[in-house]
Amino acid sequence: MVVSTINGTSPLSHSNGTTIPLSTFSRNSFVNVEKGDPVAFRPYWEKVRDECTVEIKGDEWMSYLGDTNNLCWYMVPQMRDAILRLHNVVGNAVTKDKFLVLGTGSSQLFQALLYALSPSESSHRPINVVAAAPYYSEYKDATDILQSRLFQWTGDAALYDKDEPYIEVVTSPNNPDGTLRVPVVNSGVEGKIIYDLAYYWPQYTPITDQLDHDVMVFTFSKCTGHAGSRIGWAFVKDIEVAKKMIRFVQLNSIGVSRESQIRAAKMIGVICDGYKNLKSIESDHLFFDYSKRLMKERWEKFKGAIEKSKVFTLTKYPTSYCHFNKDLSEQYPAFAWLKCLEGIKDGESYLEKLKIRTRGGGRFGVDAKYVRVSMIGTEDEFIELCTRLSNAKRE
Ligand code: PMP
Repeated sequence: MVVSTINGTSPLSHSNGTTIPLSTFSRNSFVNVEKGDPVAFRPYWEKVRDECTVEIKGDEWMSYLGDTNNLCWYMVPQMRDAILRLHNVVGNAVTKDKFLVLGTGSSQLFQALLYALSPSESSHRPINVVAAAPYYSEYKDATDILQSRLFQWTGDAALYDKDEPYIEVVTSPNNPDGTLRVPVVNSGVEGKIIYDLAYYWPQYTPITDQLDHDVMVFTFSKCTGHAGSRIGWAFVKDIEVAKKMIRFVQLNSIGVSRESQIRAAKMIGVICDGYKNLKSIESDHLFFDYSKRLMKERWEKFKGAIEKSKVFTLTKYPTSYCHFNKDLSEQYPAFAWLKCLEGIKDGESYLEKLKIRTRGGGRFGVDAKYVRVSMIGTEDEFIELCTRLSNAKRE
């Protein structure tokens, strides 16, 4: 296995022989850093592609069922073992005495949790769902899309002042601003907390604690970059909550693709085997070492471009001791959160004129002078982003 350069890019080639050339930007084309598609780590997976190949024969994995001995009956044992092994290697979560619930992405588990944490008696008013602004833009839409009688989006957790039951979503590190978070609601009523730990992986942030909360949600998408596999999981303390989530997944999609589970288990196995064979392997061959170095390099380049532009300021992050890497480290969030300097009221429109597509603060429950920029897109997209940002001048 040879992983040569972190930023080595080559045309995307599919196993059916077709290739998609990497885009080249013309002055008129947009750099789209609006979405958080985590394709940045693709060069790593390209180098280890043969080790990760999964063959599925025509007669295999046909049933709905994964493991009838497990509460989460649609999860195959290989998937369960891989997830537990990954957390054991990284040390980011306490998995003992918790129920593991698998989902079609963590997006499905968010909906499953809203259902499972809402009061079941029909006499109740919808439970309030809150998250501290700036919050991940999809929570609001995912909560309100079905106009449920069980739950309703109530907005910024920091402003919540009702003495009514609530669910608070705590995203740490946070999307969009990368900050480390704790619950903020101050209410006379005890709330239920969902910890969305999508970015609590060593390439984005030092692993400071083995977290031990009642509800912790993770996603394969942001861990390895395989967002298309649609694998997410939750560790849940209360069996009744876990049962209700599993019932939701049953009614929503009758489980989770078993092909995806097998592939995800294989990828996780390759990562963990690397750390098991630490002595015989170069650090560039280790997934989290590779991906952290990539994020660090990108952030250094990006900070340089922002400094040159003199148009934006960036969030400052603390340095902490990482128990996984055994060193002091900064955070390298998956998104940059920019604040426009005086005189620019709408960051998204400002950047649109520079042919940079971003997501404005309004979507995250804050002022339009903030914008979110993805740091996990393709390398050529990222380079072009930095070039355009460093040429940005105040109007
Ligand atoms: N939570 C957060 C904070 C996210 O940023 C994302 C993806 N952008 C998700 C959940 C959903 O991830 P997925 O459905 O791919 O697991």
